[in-house]
Amino acid sequence: MLPSPTAPEVAIVGGGPAGLIAAEVLARAGLKVTVYDQMPSVGRKLLMAGRGGLNLTHSEEFERFVARYAQALPQLEPLIQAFAPADLRAWSEGLGQETFVGSSGRVFPKAFKASPLLRAWLRRLDGLGVRFALRHRWQGWDHEGRLIFTDAAGEPVQAKPDTTILALGGASWPRLGSDGSWADLLAQRGIAISPLRPANMGFICPWSEIMRSRFAGEPLKRIALTCAGATVKGEAIVTQDGIEGGAVYALSARLRDTIEQDGSALLHIDLRPDLAHEALLRKLDTPRKGQSASTFLRKAAGLSPVGIALLREASPALPTEPEALARLIKAVPLRLTGTKSLERAISTAGGVPFGELDTHLMLRGMPGVFVAGEMLDWEAPTGGYLLQATFATGIAAARGVLASLRIPDAALTLEPSSATRQT
Ligand SMILES: Cc1cc2nc3c(=O)[nH]c(=O)nc-3n(C[C@H](O)[C@H](O)[C@H](O)COP(=O)(O)OP(=O)(O)OC[C@H]3O[C@@H](n4cnc5c(N)ncnc54)[C@H](O)[C@@H]3O)c2cc1C
Repeated sequence: MLPSPTAPEVAIVGGGPAGLIAAEVLARAGLKVTVYDQMPSVGRKLLMAGRGGLNLTHSEEFERFVARYAQALPQLEPLIQAFAPADLRAWSEGLGQETFVGSSGRVFPKAFKASPLLRAWLRRLDGLGVRFALRHRWQGWDHEGRLIFTDAAGEPVQAKPDTTILALGGASWPRLGSDGSWADLLAQRGIAISPLRPANMGFICPWSEIMRSRFAGEPLKRIALTCAGATVKGEAIVTQDGIEGGAVYALSARLRDTIEQDGSALLHIDLRPDLAHEALLRKLDTPRKGQSASTFLRKAAGLSPVGIALLREASPALPTEPEALARLIKAVPLRLTGTKSLERAISTAGGVPFGELDTHLMLRGMPGVFVAGEMLDWEAPTGGYLLQATFATGIAAARGVLASLRIPDAALTLEPSSATRQT
């Protein structure tokens, strides 16, 4: 159904998943929707997210799922209740993209990448009459309250919609379009913005030359990382100047905050989390029979060359006494001295605080302007939590627009299947 010529007009600024799902809800309700984006095409970060497998959401039970949003739990929980992981899967399947649960509980489309999903989605939006104004860079509001953009030719363009949703993303990977330039524009209007900071990023650690030149790019598999009492099992990768990877990202908020406060953070790496200390000790408490330390550690403790190099970084003269060696293998200390930059992070912490918004995600200080997606002040680990909250807040903002215009919510056609709906 195309919108009637007299339908209210909504501008959605930012064509990532938050903006596009808001466009879908509003177009289904019969509104005239224009999505503005500064890039030549929309959904670029979504496509990038699909490169290594589009992790749409997670299949764990709801309480555990929403606990991942930590401080933002009170605000995000009702929004994720209203558009839950099962709803996101059903929505994806409604676009012809069946999903599956991977061994870690993460949910992916069967096609694994994002491009078929995005293609089908854009076709659907086109059919609903959504207009796209691409290569339109948002520059704020003029003195009459109109949105101002610059188009591809650098010419100013104004728009005076009935309502606006800002869905401009965070500030990581700026070449994909989300560059965080909105933060100054909103601050100029008196909106408090929590500083934008990297989330799910790598860390800096001053490696020796040997570690850097021989082991950069090497994975540390089946390890456990501990920082300030929190332990995460998984994988990490040694980089030229530090460490990154899934297990590091999972602790990244805690590590980042510690570095900000204390100047550095101490991470402990358990190279054999599958072996209890006693069992490891028994393996180490055997005659070395003239083997070099590396050969002994490889054979007796099953350590990889990069794991052994990590031990030597922490203790260049490796302990020969089995008890001390076992203790080191179970908790290799690594001093992290900095975070990798926001530009290289997977996501962004900080943004528009929930205190600036009402429960419909409308700015209290700017009636008629709603905010959704990663530009809101929440953070979560990788695992599908980023896209789930992005979609849920996009839908919440769109429903907020409908409520403010007193228009009934047409609801998404989700067609949930019993196979995907969580109980
Ligand atoms: C490498 C990588 C892998 C990822 N993998 C996953 C994953 O597997 N699972 C997961 O849950 N999450 C993943 N994420 C995170 C996820 O992609 C983001 O959280 C999500 O895209 C945020 O959506 P959004 O709509 O809020 O913002 P974005 O997707 O960033 O979209 C914002 C849009 O606003 C536009 N814009 C910004 N400023 C302006 C302006 N001034 N004028 C006009 N337009 C503007 C941008 O061009 C962009 O199109 C990944 C991120 C990265 C970088």
